[in-house]
Amino acid sequence: MRAMELQEVGGPLQFVERETPVPGAGELLIQISACGVCRTDLHIIDGDIRDHLPIVPGHEIVGHVLASGLGVSHFAAGDRVGVPWLGRTCGECRYCHAGQENLCDHPLFTGFTRDGGFATHCIANAAFCLPIPKEFSDAEAAPLLCAGLIGYRSLRMAGHARRIGLYGFGAAAHILTQVALWQGREVYAFTKPGDVQGQAFARALGCV
Ligand SMILES: [Zn+2]
Ligand SMILES: [Zn+2]
Repeated sequence: MRAMELQEVGGPLQFVERETPVPGAGELLIQISACGVCRTDLHIIDGDIRDHLPIVPGHEIVGHVLASGLGVSHFAAGDRVGVPWLGRTCGECRYCHAGQENLCDHPLFTGFTRDGGFATHCIANAAFCLPIPKEFSDAEAAPLLCAGLIGYRSLRMAGHARRIGLYGFGAAAHILTQVALWQGREVYAFTKPGDVQGQAFARALGCV
């Protein structure tokens, strides 16, 4: 397999070739078709958040299942799947028991604590992979795996409010705006002072 690896904080990603990994129990080997670039990838590369290096960043992965490990029953070879940031949780800590697995004490994060999607292949825990509906192209689906996912989660927690405000107008907000407008809501965008480009983009998408 081929991958773009972060070897030192602040450095450029380096092209490497490696043995294609074998999926363990509960895991999938995925041939990657597309991977979005999230702001968090830039935070990792800049060293704003740190874990072990080298690492292959990228956590908005879309690809096809090539092989699966023992115990995987809900995906088969050829299925198109998406791999998000949250790559594994322990299932045992107080957060996991409370249904707040995003706060797990012992998680694995795709492209941060385990290799991600700026590569031809990756390994992912099948329990955290998502089926991708055929309506989306690979490139259209990729940003939904982080920007779309966290935005939609926040939108659901906002309940049925007819007017909503989005603080910071980045990747998540520009997807969420389109969903919220389609749902018949009014959307107010809040940007950094002087972010004229962001403000114009928000208005162009239909924000009030
Ligand atoms: Zn992300
Ligand atoms: Zn946990």
